[in-house]
Amino acid sequence: MKIEVSCPQCGGRIDFDEKSFVIRCDFCGSTLHLVGKDQVCHFRLKPRHDHRKASAYLSAVLQKKLGPDVSVLKIKLVYAPYWRIHGMVFRWIFGKKLVKVVSASPFGSYREDTKKLLTKLLDLSFPAFQGISLGMQSLGVRTSALPLFIFGNVSEEPDVAFIRVDTDFDYAVKYMNAFVNVGLESEDVEPELEDTQEVGEQYSIIYVPFWLAKIAARNTKQIIAMDAISGSSVKRFTGEEIKTLKKMLEGAGNSSDLPVLRFIPFRCPDCGWELPFYPYNSVHICSTCSRGWFEFGGKFRRVNYRIAEAPSKANKNNVIFLPFWRIKMTVAMPDGTVKSIPQLIGRGYQPYRKSLLDSGEDMLTNFMIPAFRIKNINAFNKIASRLTANPVKYRFEESADPGRRSFGGVNLTYSEAEEMARVVLLSLIPPFARKALQELKDADFKFSNHELIYLPFREEGLFLRDLYSGFAIQKGALSFGKVKGGFIP
Ligand SMILES: [Zn+2]
Ligand SMILES: [Zn+2]
Repeated sequence: MKIEVSCPQCGGRIDFDEKSFVIRCDFCGSTLHLVGKDQVCHFRLKPRHDHRKASAYLSAVLQKKLGPDVSVLKIKLVYAPYWRIHGMVFRWIFGKKLVKVVSASPFGSYREDTKKLLTKLLDLSFPAFQGISLGMQSLGVRTSALPLFIFGNVSEEPDVAFIRVDTDFDYAVKYMNAFVNVGLESEDVEPELEDTQEVGEQYSIIYVPFWLAKIAARNTKQIIAMDAISGSSVKRFTGEEIKTLKKMLEGAGNSSDLPVLRFIPFRCPDCGWELPFYPYNSVHICSTCSRGWFEFGGKFRRVNYRIAEAPSKANKNNVIFLPFWRIKMTVAMPDGTVKSIPQLIGRGYQPYRKSLLDSGEDMLTNFMIPAFRIKNINAFNKIASRLTANPVKYRFEESADPGRRSFGGVNLTYSEAEEMARVVLLSLIPPFARKALQELKDADFKFSNHELIYLPFREEGLFLRDLYSGFAIQKGALSFGKVKGGFIP
């Protein structure tokens, strides 16, 4: 999805991808950080024709659909709000699988404990107004094909009506929950515990333009609505519906009532220098004073980070530091007790080394979630569970100064990392751990001690190898291509 805004400095047009945190104006060179990406953003799509040309267009479309004797008497542009929810969905299914015995066996077939991780991209949309249909139930591909415009910094707002949103955020969440598992069913597993987690979900309201028209067709007057982008949906209203529509339009607002997308200057709050421009990074490290920042509530807040030293015997060439969110996770039980993850899983489970369990559980509750983007979700899950289950005592550099070395950019926010931690937890639980699964059903996850740490990896052909654990990931699984000095988005 592409968003189009006017540069607040020079008025030039800026196009950017919805995943961006930072944007740059090609005309005047200003860089800006978006504010409130974690909240509901409001956008609108533009009609294909202006008012003047729309009448002729409408006539042509309607004559094709309804016959040659249709004439358009009057038209009005109306914007109707739709919820759009997008993100990733992860669904763990724990249960039993039927294992069929091939040859004639005295035991026959049996059922085996199993688990399965299913994922999908979430992209849902539905009307945010109730009481009437305009003939369009969802946005379809419109948001991927057309640019979205924001409110506030658009010079001339045409005099049109904006239908009010009358479904609140909780309604949108409920709607999402009703559809989130669609397409994530497993035919071969009889489910016993399911856990669905959305990651990085964003809720927005998108205003879609419609032409309301009074038309004469076959000697009767009618009111119709046609979407003002493709003309593909045409809806004729009944008498009862026209009354509802009138009421709705009387209560409609104009664009000045709508929330505005804001920006803040992309500068280090401490030393005032411009921060390095990597649009998809959510954490920004000042190249002058080395401090780390992320935006929250319209302000840059400090992110403390640490850099793990490359082990002394390691060759320091071709080392790239990749960021991880280290987050302490505990589980609050319905009876009020709090358990660490090893307590929950139990000592028998092999990935948690027994020696570490005996040496104190503190380290084991720290989840290591990659903060860089990994395209391949299985690779993501693998490295996260591997580093979480085999904690290492890192030696950190005394002063965090990236200097001229290579670093991976932080693309995942810490709240996305919390969401991923839950997915990783379930990947650490073996399918036979019935007790842990039972307990998890009613448990509440608690996160604390968030920390950003950079771990040294060395390039080895197609792989990047963690210099502490020896664990390697394929370079091709990462989102960034060439490794070079500085921060890589
Ligand atoms: Zn500009
Ligand atoms: Zn600075």
